[in-house]
Amino acid sequence: MSENETATLYIVATPIGNLSDMSQRAIDVLQHVAVIAAEDTRHSGHLLQHFSITTPIVSLHEHNEQQRSEVLLTRLQQGESVALISDAGTPLISDPGYRLVSLVREHGILVVPVPGSCALIAALSASGLPSDRFAFEGFLPSKQGARQQALQNLATENRTLIFYESPRRIQATLMDMVAIFGKDRSACLARELTKLHETIETKPLAELLDWVANDENQQRGECVLLVEGVKQQQSADEVEINRVLTILLKELPVKKAAAITSSLLEVSKNTAYDMALKLQHK
Ligand code: SAM
Repeated sequence: MSENETATLYIVATPIGNLSDMSQRAIDVLQHVAVIAAEDTRHSGHLLQHFSITTPIVSLHEHNEQQRSEVLLTRLQQGESVALISDAGTPLISDPGYRLVSLVREHGILVVPVPGSCALIAALSASGLPSDRFAFEGFLPSKQGARQQALQNLATENRTLIFYESPRRIQATLMDMVAIFGKDRSACLARELTKLHETIETKPLAELLDWVANDENQQRGECVLLVEGVKQQQSADEVEINRVLTILLKELPVKKAAAITSSLLEVSKNTAYDMALKLQHK
């Protein structure tokens, strides 16, 4: 940065695994700002060392973001440029930085993104699922009840859904998805992207669940989970009927499941029966 450059807050993406994904522009910016704000200074210290970047580093994480943002704002107002990085990928995407960026912008200071890796975009681009419209949902709640409610709220969404998920919960989350979205929607598990054990598998939800349940290796590492949205031609009512039938068919014969669905959702017995048969034969 030249001395008379306008003080700028740079939002710098870093690799999500493969260090070769670090851009030359990211290296240049990090080398030349006055200070780097990083989520975990020790973790980012290794990255900076790898690229021989010697810029001073301060922490900015979930617990000190408010107070640290004020300090960084003062430095920007005094004419220094600042870069924000997170542990991996693009800052602010399920990572700290929102409060800093909004505060700095409120004070009329320039904010410049230096784009690069982002797990959700990498996963979507290789998943084979519709990519024209998508909804990023971040992490689902870890408690089952809240997770099921969150999925329930998304049951009629027709955009591709993208979630970050812990490997410890991947199987339980897939089970909830099968129960709520049905077993047939295409879904993708993108694991360990850009790393040695990168795996990107797209299958109908129930098959993906089986595959994960039968191979412990699929329950390791970092994961992005993507699910195709509801097909446009399937109405919200049909989605709800299928959801209820899927749950009931686990415990009851077709006729009984159809009868209960018919009285619960005010759909004709014949329609419920036909839909139940289809679900059974899939
Ligand atoms: N800011 C990051 C980004 O741009 O993707 C995401 C940070 S969030 C705290 C971390 C989560 O992102 C992980 O739990 C995982 O769901 C996802 N993730 C990060 N790196 C990944 C990778 N290499 N492969 C798959 N998922 C990854």
